[in-house]
Amino acid sequence: MPFRKIKQMFGFGKPDPAPSVNRQPKPRDKYLPHDHYLGAIFIITYRCQCSCSHCVSGIYTKDKDKEFSTEGAKELIRKFADFGVDCVAFFGGEPLLRDDILELIRYTREIGMSALLDSNGWMIDEKMAGDLAEAGLGVINISIDSVDPEIHDKGRGIPGLFEQAINAIKLCKSNGITTLISSYADREKLNSGATQAVIDFGKKLGVRLRYFTPLRSGKWLDNEEVIFKPEDLKKFKSLLSPDGACWENDFCDSPEKDFHCLSTARGQFTVTAFGDITPCPAFELAFGNVKEEPLEDILKRMWSHYIFNRTDGKDCPLNDPAFRREYADKIRNATKYPIRIDEHVTREQ
Ligand code: SF4
Repeated sequence: MPFRKIKQMFGFGKPDPAPSVNRQPKPRDKYLPHDHYLGAIFIITYRCQCSCSHCVSGIYTKDKDKEFSTEGAKELIRKFADFGVDCVAFFGGEPLLRDDILELIRYTREIGMSALLDSNGWMIDEKMAGDLAEAGLGVINISIDSVDPEIHDKGRGIPGLFEQAINAIKLCKSNGITTLISSYADREKLNSGATQAVIDFGKKLGVRLRYFTPLRSGKWLDNEEVIFKPEDLKKFKSLLSPDGACWENDFCDSPEKDFHCLSTARGQFTVTAFGDITPCPAFELAFGNVKEEPLEDILKRMWSHYIFNRTDGKDCPLNDPAFRREYADKIRNATKYPIRIDEHVTREQ
């Protein structure tokens, strides 16, 4: 039962309740099997201290005034719970730049969902790690791009970030939060041994890795060169193992397993800092805005769109040449992201 397995990775079924077991019927049941994992990725802000070249959020405006207010964010989190979401993943930008992040995590837990957070680690000291644990955060993914502190700090634009991130990993772990390193592999890192080095480093720290591979998205929208060739993928997959590193999620944690896109499998959806609904943070196309329409109506539209039925989920649709041909020009020429997919539909859904 693959969707049960992913709950383990995201901290379900341990201290957290298992929300989809023995629960009341929810609107999601019209679209998903009863025990199907459903995560809401909430990009709570696009603001960040870092300036990473690989950032999928780097093309979005960082306007704080357009973000959800605390009450607005809580209202949205309540909508997630009402719909039947299992886990809210706070994403950015850097989610800890929100003054109300602990309140939002606490609220998420109070109304029966698990909470996960991605962070660059810069703001996590002893107090913050304790506060996150006390608020009920189940899982944290902390970014480490390289085991070379200079490369990590230079790539992210913050001197001293590497040491701080390592400290954050140790503190979160010691406070009982399931802690993973989040990293990305590119061709240069893969072939130089730097990708393996981060996995080895994680083992020494006693944490697993979640690895991403290059996507035609964000600052790499026009960078064909970064995308892995079949030989790169073969090499990359040879580094995966259940106790070492997985590729995006637990479905692919060994060389024998296929990649699995959780978004096109209807296992997650994303709400941007401004209310737009997209399949995942890397996807620049929105299917509606939750400030204008009910969440269920937008998800129904998104999940019945042909891109959700044309893929077997074994590759990222963003890297699919046919998909890029249909949408890339529109995306490239946009003045603001995300752009609405219904402005660019080129065939019947
Ligand atoms: S579309 Fe799917 S595979 Fe691609 S980045 Fe998003 S979740 Fe991952």
